[in-house]
Amino acid sequence: MIQTQLYIDGQWQSPIDQGTRAIVSPADESVIAQAAEATRADARLAIAAARRAFDGPWRQTTIRERARLLNRIAELIHRDAEKLAHLESLNTGKTLTESRTDMGDIAATFRYFAGLVASESGAVNEAPHHVISRTLREPVGVCGLITPWNYPLLQAAWKIAPALGAGNTVVIKPSNLTPLTTHHFTQLVAELDLPPGVFNLVTGGAEVGAELAESLDVDLVSFTGGAFAGESIMKAATGNFKRIGLELGGKNPNIVFADADLDAAVDYALNAAFFHAGQVCSAGSRLMVEDSIYDAFIGRLAERLPRIVIGNGFHGETQMGPVQSAQQHEKILGMVQAGIAEGARLVHGGKRPAGDVYKKGYWLEPTLLADVTAGMKIAKEEIFGPVITAERFRSEEEALRAANDTPYGLAAAVWTRDLDKANRMSRALRFGTVWVNDYHPYFPEAPWGGYKASGIGRELARIGLDEYTELKHSYINLAPKAMGWFGA
Ligand code: NAD
Repeated sequence: MIQTQLYIDGQWQSPIDQGTRAIVSPADESVIAQAAEATRADARLAIAAARRAFDGPWRQTTIRERARLLNRIAELIHRDAEKLAHLESLNTGKTLTESRTDMGDIAATFRYFAGLVASESGAVNEAPHHVISRTLREPVGVCGLITPWNYPLLQAAWKIAPALGAGNTVVIKPSNLTPLTTHHFTQLVAELDLPPGVFNLVTGGAEVGAELAESLDVDLVSFTGGAFAGESIMKAATGNFKRIGLELGGKNPNIVFADADLDAAVDYALNAAFFHAGQVCSAGSRLMVEDSIYDAFIGRLAERLPRIVIGNGFHGETQMGPVQSAQQHEKILGMVQAGIAEGARLVHGGKRPAGDVYKKGYWLEPTLLADVTAGMKIAKEEIFGPVITAERFRSEEEALRAANDTPYGLAAAVWTRDLDKANRMSRALRFGTVWVNDYHPYFPEAPWGGYKASGIGRELARIGLDEYTELKHSYINLAPKAMGWFGA
């Protein structure tokens, strides 16, 4: 049985009150680990350690040393990629193929930020000859990093790499449903001779996250998760006006025009909605199809859905695993029922698959609800499960209006062969990412984040590093003289 501990001030330790939490496999509900469950008191120790480390010698590290550190972490992830991928699949239920892809992306994230950090240099500003004026980027300080359960280590990497690369110290709190890969990652960091307190791991629930958000000794909180927790973090952060980064939910339209390559659009509609059983913040669960092809499109999806292989993520043939928890399972089924009650037509799924192997675990059939209209709850709220809701539209204007009529603004996709239309739509859609004739690609070089209620700030790309820095104007007068403004 795997047992995890906290990592505070360079030491592995148990929570002060010895709290533990059983970690459960979403595939069969068996207990796979006993994880340390911290409280606010442990979080305070970790924050204090991170504060000491930031106020100590860590501030003197050079960009070359920090770039080397990130590259070293990327090498260790590469070395342990198989072990990490197994842990991720065990804990989240996602397929091993997906977890392996995550580990490749995580190593790439560390390498990308290593390159970016190494290329950092302050700017020298134009100024009189007796003045040296420089614009410098400096670390923000102690960073509290709070991550969700759907992409446990990937979301952590998007935060840890730029935070450490910019010279900050870190306290990370993964979701207490899925701490296993972040724990293993911490073991990798512990192999490196970082000063104590530079990197701290505190596994626990909302109260640990709340402590990070409230603490006056934390200078920045970066959070990925739901709107409810995001709002509470935003309010808590006002205590010391700490920097915040919020990556929240989405209600992401996948818009198919009649002139699209339909083979590709059908195929990607499945990938958009059922990848990781739809538990993706940018999942294309809100399918919008132009009227003239709507019925044929729904028909083609209906043919494909029963062929999706649901199963244990470790089995090679599995295409879709379970959802993360009993709570999610219940919430998703409730949303499906709400949709049917509002008049949506259940084309496929909406229930636990038949068969003994699916009796235990949080299994759901891939689900298609057709004839959804823009006002329905299921067209507005995030479902975060393997459910496509399909709406019909009659014109470009109608599609645009309906797609933008959401409090969220994370990601959207447009399928068309008309480049002019593609350009118009991608400019007019109010979303942080707009894909045309594709779904889901992201990479470290491109920014990630949402408009409106999908969040504040961006991750990845140069801006993803800048978010972890303060900008300073350093002005040095080499030849000071009395100024005489107020006379002699
Ligand atoms: P969640 O908000 O319940 O929890 C996220 C993290 O915050 C967990 O570590 C949790 O313990 C912690 N937390 C909960 N309440 C807190 C509080 N009051 N103060 C501080 N910390 C608190 O989210 P979840 O259910 O783990 O994840 C699913 C959500 O995350 C979905 O809404 C999804 O869209 C979103 N998400 C967004 C992105 C993105 O990039 N925008 C990526 C992945 C997931």
